[in-house]
Amino acid sequence: MNHFEYINNELYCENVPIAKIAEKVGTPFYLYSHATLKRHFSVFKDAFKKIDSLVCYSAKANTNLAVLKIFEQAGSGLDIVSGGELFRGLKAGFSPDRIVYSGVGKRADEIDYALKTGILMFNVESLEELELINQRAEALNLKAPVAIRVNPDVDPKTHPYISTGLKKNKFGIDVNSALEGYKYAVEKKHINLIGIDCHIGSQLTEVRPFADALENVKKLIYKLKDIGIAITHLDIGGGLGITYDDEVPPQPVEYADAVISSINGLDVKLVLEPGRVLVGNAGILIAKVLYRKRNDLKEFVITDAGMNDLLRPSIYKAFHAVEPVIRKGTEKITADIVGPICETGDFLATDCHIEDVRGGDLLAVMSAGAYGFTMSSNYCSRVRIAEVMVKDAEFQVVNQRQTYEDLVKGESIPAFI
Ligand SMILES: *Cc1c(COP(=O)(O)O)cnc(C)c1O
Repeated sequence: MNHFEYINNELYCENVPIAKIAEKVGTPFYLYSHATLKRHFSVFKDAFKKIDSLVCYSAKANTNLAVLKIFEQAGSGLDIVSGGELFRGLKAGFSPDRIVYSGVGKRADEIDYALKTGILMFNVESLEELELINQRAEALNLKAPVAIRVNPDVDPKTHPYISTGLKKNKFGIDVNSALEGYKYAVEKKHINLIGIDCHIGSQLTEVRPFADALENVKKLIYKLKDIGIAITHLDIGGGLGITYDDEVPPQPVEYADAVISSINGLDVKLVLEPGRVLVGNAGILIAKVLYRKRNDLKEFVITDAGMNDLLRPSIYKAFHAVEPVIRKGTEKITADIVGPICETGDFLATDCHIEDVRGGDLLAVMSAGAYGFTMSSNYCSRVRIAEVMVKDAEFQVVNQRQTYEDLVKGESIPAFI
């Protein structure tokens, strides 16, 4: 139950008919359910309440300030991957001591920003990065709290583009050479070595790879203990999957139980970085049908939302269910739901079984709350679409649709041409 439900054949978000929002706001737009966001967070957090833990919502899944604020109010920390996300996090009111900073390519200015802010820890992904953080901390006369991200070399059995814990992936430091990394880090005067971190991939639908990764990480923690390096924070990243189609991912409590039993005996604070599982099914994308057309082979439904608005189908061949906002009960057709962009990869769904929708009808692209708006672009000079939040019977635009003026903001034509 994610608060997107049909009442008398009309799709609602909580207590608001979606067609009513479309009339007011225009299409396309992303739509988020306040109640769903809140519930997803509390279910996840409660699953870990038995142990000392900090849930740090992974901002990149959905960075809208209103979404961030809901999690901040619910007691979440934040996992960021850029200076821009740090800025947003602070704007949404997150306390710096609940912010962890991940990512393989942190720049010096971003490191300085995070150091001055006083974040909980940097998840460091290479020795060169460690060196730079040490230098920047020295320059600022501070000590940088650091966890080293290890690559535990386990197969998360997910899409290759979102698997991150294999040797061939760019993330973290190989678990076997990590010991050397720790010995190196512990000597650094401006590094406060507090943690170990791993994140093996996204949209995982089994518990097993998480447990396997933790086994490898645990071995390393014991080795570190043997040489006198005590770790206080264990960050196991995010990655828990959601149902887009017929996947049956573990429930947060199953995931939590597996994690808790794996780390049994370790005296650490557990840090978690869930993204998709909190927001994915709390948001949908609403588009309007512009045209229908067919050729010998295929039927096409052309909508006003395209790959620049929702990139996942195009780059991951990801499945998103597409439903009519108003069910008319017509016979179903099989069609590709495509956007207006000049690319063959511009589709929202292929071979979709859907009612015989026509120009003017509204479509709901389901499970679009994660990596939807945040991955959108201005490709083809299309304005970024609006984001709307519903709470019970109220709704509000929480990010305005861009204007054409926004598209050229910051551009100029030099005098020399
Ligand atoms: C993207 C990311 C996450 C969140 O992943 P989800 O699959 O959305 O839960 C967590 N940690 C790191 C380091 C990430 O890059």
